Amino acid sequence: MEWRARRLLEELHDVRDAAASLPDALVLLDAHGGIRWCNRSAERLLALAWPRDRDAVLASRYAGHKLGDWLDRGGAEPLDDVHAPADATMHLQVTMMPYGHDQRLLLARDISRLARLEQVRRDFVANVSHELRTPLTVIHGYLELLDPEDVPALAPVLGEMRAQSQRMRQIVEDLLALSRLEMERHLPEERVQMQPLLVTLRREAEALSQGRHRITLEDEAHRDLLGSAKDLHSAFGNLVSNAVRYTPDGGAIAIRWRRTRGGAEYSVTDTGYGIPAEHLSRLTERFYRVSSSRSRGSGGTGLGLSIVKHVLNLHHAELRIESEAGIGSTFACVFDHSRVLEPESDDPR
Ligand code: ADP
Repeated sequence: MEWRARRLLEELHDVRDAAASLPDALVLLDAHGGIRWCNRSAERLLALAWPRDRDAVLASRYAGHKLGDWLDRGGAEPLDDVHAPADATMHLQVTMMPYGHDQRLLLARDISRLARLEQVRRDFVANVSHELRTPLTVIHGYLELLDPEDVPALAPVLGEMRAQSQRMRQIVEDLLALSRLEMERHLPEERVQMQPLLVTLRREAEALSQGRHRITLEDEAHRDLLGSAKDLHSAFGNLVSNAVRYTPDGGAIAIRWRRTRGGAEYSVTDTGYGIPAEHLSRLTERFYRVSSSRSRGSGGTGLGLSIVKHVLNLHHAELRIESEAGIGSTFACVFDHSRVLEPESDDPR
């Protein structure tokens, strides 16, 4: 019996030694968030010390730090990128997993290398786009100066060159917009008056459609939004422009703004080509297109929905897409109540 107990103890030590030497930080927590055990990497990554911190409440160690707020909220969703408590140059990914009876395991991984690579990628895209902007503007300017009537033989070529240089300019502008959104931590928190914005969006839809679609606007929410007017206009406008571009002539497009149980929702519904289910989860990836020829033919850059997604993320809002091939699509931006404002008192509504 005694040798069995000794063997079990040895095995337990083995497991602990192995866990202690992992490069990831491990912290075992009791039902009240107290520290039952942590490994050596937890000292480096999470500024803990064993056995000094035995039974200390983990969240209280990180008061005022993003990690502390996350622990207070229960840590249900993983924290994708947070600065290490003792070293702001180190990036951590932190996950919490339940185990046993009401116990939890916190795992923190050093992702500084990945974060640096991500930064290099962002800077590269931003720099390339920026460098391309001026030469493209010059080329486009000269092409605009050339009059096809002076060289009738080249007229079709000139038209194509102008269209392509305009497309390149649009791609560069969209890439720069995406870079700016990626670097932005917070957007302006201003009152975005929805009623005039919705009227503008409908006008823009009509200008794009040129009478080819039936366009309706329903403003049932009578609420404003808190956020960046410029960026929300760009995101909402992208959805309207997609609806026009991916709906054949004679189709209908409905722009709606209404209250929901948790907040409010802006949506654009069309009776267009629709999107087969297998593409839906990838639509917001950069340059992802269901049909390249249809997108290019309609003047698309493949970046519109990425911009929409980024703008919504910065507003803590969600993009919901429902679509059926051959029937049509609804793209909805869902805002929670903290973003929805009562209209101002002098508002006639
Ligand atoms: P693009 O500039 O190509 O329109 P987006 O990022 O705006 O790029 O959209 C990505 C792809 O999603 C489009 O190429 C198109 O295939 C599809 N898509 C977007 N909106 C709609 C829509 N309302 N109806 C059908 N397909 C759509």
